[in-house]
Amino acid sequence: MTVTTDLVSYEDALASYDPVMGLEVHVELGTRTKMFCGCSTGLGAEPNSQTCPTCLGLPGSLPVVNAVGVESAVRIGLALHCEIAEWCRFARKNYFYPDMPKNFQTSQYDEPIAFNGYLDVQLEDGEVFRVEIERAHMEEDTGKSTHVGGATGRIHGASHSLLDYNRAGIPLIEIVTKPVVGAGDRAPEIAKAYVAELRELIRALGVSEARMEMGQMRCDVNLSLMPKGSETFGTRSETKNVNSLRSVERAVRFEVRRHAAVLGGGGTIVQETRHFHEDDGSTTSGRVKEEAEDYRYFPEPDLVPVAPSREWVEELRAGLPELPRVRRNRLREEWGVSGHDMQSILNAGAIDPIVATIEAGADPLSARKWWMGELARSANESGRSLEGLPITPEQVARVAALVADGSLNDKLARQVIEGVLAGEGDPDAVVEKRGLKVVSDEGALGAAVDEAIAGNAAIADKIRGGKVAAVGALVGAVMKATRGQADAARVKELILRKLGVTEG
Ligand code: ADP
Ligand code: MG
Ligand code: ZN
Repeated sequence: MTVTTDLVSYEDALASYDPVMGLEVHVELGTRTKMFCGCSTGLGAEPNSQTCPTCLGLPGSLPVVNAVGVESAVRIGLALHCEIAEWCRFARKNYFYPDMPKNFQTSQYDEPIAFNGYLDVQLEDGEVFRVEIERAHMEEDTGKSTHVGGATGRIHGASHSLLDYNRAGIPLIEIVTKPVVGAGDRAPEIAKAYVAELRELIRALGVSEARMEMGQMRCDVNLSLMPKGSETFGTRSETKNVNSLRSVERAVRFEVRRHAAVLGGGGTIVQETRHFHEDDGSTTSGRVKEEAEDYRYFPEPDLVPVAPSREWVEELRAGLPELPRVRRNRLREEWGVSGHDMQSILNAGAIDPIVATIEAGADPLSARKWWMGELARSANESGRSLEGLPITPEQVARVAALVADGSLNDKLARQVIEGVLAGEGDPDAVVEKRGLKVVSDEGALGAAVDEAIAGNAAIADKIRGGKVAAVGALVGAVMKATRGQADAARVKELILRKLGVTEG
């Protein structure tokens, strides 16, 4: 960035001010069709091939509400402990933008479908912070502009712009928090944890994949400061479209430092939108915020009101899945892991693979061990997610079973996993092809055991003399000679027998 911004240190800022945050999260629903027409929402189609008179805003076209969109909104509202409106309408939010052909966005204004809820988020140290939800409302996405000819891809300096309306009309749910107060110096962490928890929740509900890197979930970060001890909110800035968890955390941190510098220098904060820059974590001024009145909201005359019956709402409530935080706490107890370990498992995206591996018959300990060990390493190296690895939970469970029944030891099991990942087939096929079996047969091990004893006469004497603990060195020699395939327990037994020693 060429723009330099005055900042104070984060610590100094927090010594003088209390931050207040507001998080607005947009989630693109995974419905098959758009919110107000039957056009497909599929990704990757030819530009403007998934459009119709309604989503292009042509005169005379009429919208119809997508029932799955409404159902998703109600389920999200319920999962966020919101009240569900008995009756609510859509509204027109009027403004002109080339990627919005109707010249208004169909949204909800003063009658959101869900309101007054909360989401409990768990912080790194286990503490739970409650974020209050103001509203969750339904709206539609805009089209997409591509600015061509400039150096930056921004409209500034471009020679012309291309418009793709395939995204116009895709259902969005906007979830808005009440002002988050009392976060103190944990504001950046809380903001990130909130968005992370919300993403887990959305995925658990199955209403969206909520992939931030694909724009399926985006966050606007509002922030203001008030002098310590004051209870009057300061003027907020609104950093738009922050598209990763890490960026949410950085945007809050940056704005705290910037606001503190402005206020500390006797300046005033202007209410404006700002852009976040991934490269250095800074924000720069966007546009001065219009007043809400500028949008001339009015109820949408072409759509019937949405009036979810209480029976239906209760049916949806009864069908909600276990909330992610509750589920994590349950699994943490079932698996007997610490909060810290559970956090690592969550961060690694390993919860579902581990659960599926246990369901396929593995015990929790080994399921965890393989996904958080060998497989996490492999995913890391190949830049993939755990679920993107070419191995199934069933295959991992089979490896665990082969270890449990003594057919494989850990070293051989790692080779089996390596083989599966390399596309050599199921664990049993890899065992077969690579000849990976624990050898415990006395006939096969006898020669290696004799050699180990003969080659380590001094140690063998010690053992004969009663120092049984020294047997480890001989077992190691046999393991080496058999390239890890010997059954270590069996080898130990054979060595001690040949030396005429009984254990214990
Ligand atoms: P807008 O449409 O202007 O973005 P919204 O009400 O939709 O307004 O969202 C504003 C967000 O900012 C909400 O999450 C709200 O709780 C929060 N907020 C409101 N006032 C402040 C403030 N002074 N400081 C920080 N956040 C605020
Ligand atoms: Mg906003
Ligand atoms: Zn359409």
